[in-house]
Amino acid sequence: MKTLDGAACPPYLYERRNKQKTMANLLAHKTAQEPFDLHLHSNCSDGSDTPAQVVRAASERGVTMLALTDHDNVLGVPEAMAEAAKIGVRFLPSIEMDAEWSHEMHILGLDIDTQEPRMQEALVIALRRRGERNREIVQRLLNIGCDIREHLQGEIGAATRLNIAIALVKGGFAADTRDAFAKYLRRGCPGFYTVERFSPETIVQLILGAGGVPVWAHPMNGHADPHKVAPMLKELGLMGMEGFHPSLSEGDSVVITSIARQMGLIVTCGSDYHGDHRPAVVPGQTWRDTALLHQTREFLEARPQRAL
Ligand SMILES: [Zn+2]
Ligand SMILES: [Zn+2]
Repeated sequence: MKTLDGAACPPYLYERRNKQKTMANLLAHKTAQEPFDLHLHSNCSDGSDTPAQVVRAASERGVTMLALTDHDNVLGVPEAMAEAAKIGVRFLPSIEMDAEWSHEMHILGLDIDTQEPRMQEALVIALRRRGERNREIVQRLLNIGCDIREHLQGEIGAATRLNIAIALVKGGFAADTRDAFAKYLRRGCPGFYTVERFSPETIVQLILGAGGVPVWAHPMNGHADPHKVAPMLKELGLMGMEGFHPSLSEGDSVVITSIARQMGLIVTCGSDYHGDHRPAVVPGQTWRDTALLHQTREFLEARPQRAL
């Protein structure tokens, strides 16, 4: 009897090896069927939970692998990673980045090396631009009589427009965040202001450079045609599409997953959890017990686990 590399192998060892392999396959298959969530936000961007609370909330919902994907920063990664290790769930240090595009385009960088120098440099720039934009929006709102400064908690530099919408609600200037966007923050509204962002190409390259997996987040949000945009992004190095997200109908998911399959991209699922800031969303809610997501899980599980 020969092993794969041609060396002789006693029958009993061969059998034992095969048995071990089967056991390993069975275990891997079992893990692949457990829920995972690759899109969650903490209060390091626009979620309400601390990074550790995000991990606990996900774990309580049965999620056994998760990615913290705060906007343009990885500040919550050490705390979330420590909590995940304590609980015993698989954690992927990740990020969500806003790309310069005619429509909204968000790209997730899953399982990145957060210490990679070019990524760190880019995040400093992105945070500075976000801070500039936020100050300008707050000033524009002030000019029309909406003073929300006391309602903006924490560091304004990391705040997103959702934080500003929440501040508008707290200040009594809008009924809810949807109303705040419609009245003040959308394009054409008095509080609309945008700054330069990285191109999709730069973002994909940054994520690949940091050893991560670039995934097009909620591909239908920006009203772009995914049939046209996905091949362009694939050309740049995109590796996956978020096929299951609260913004996608069942029909949308069918479209996205079939495009991904045709193009050899992985399909991911993400709840886009924001804690109390989006109370209808719970971790793990977009996971489905499908072969496509099992494959994604196996692909991610096979990557070496990152440590701090
Ligand atoms: Zn997004
Ligand atoms: Zn998000």
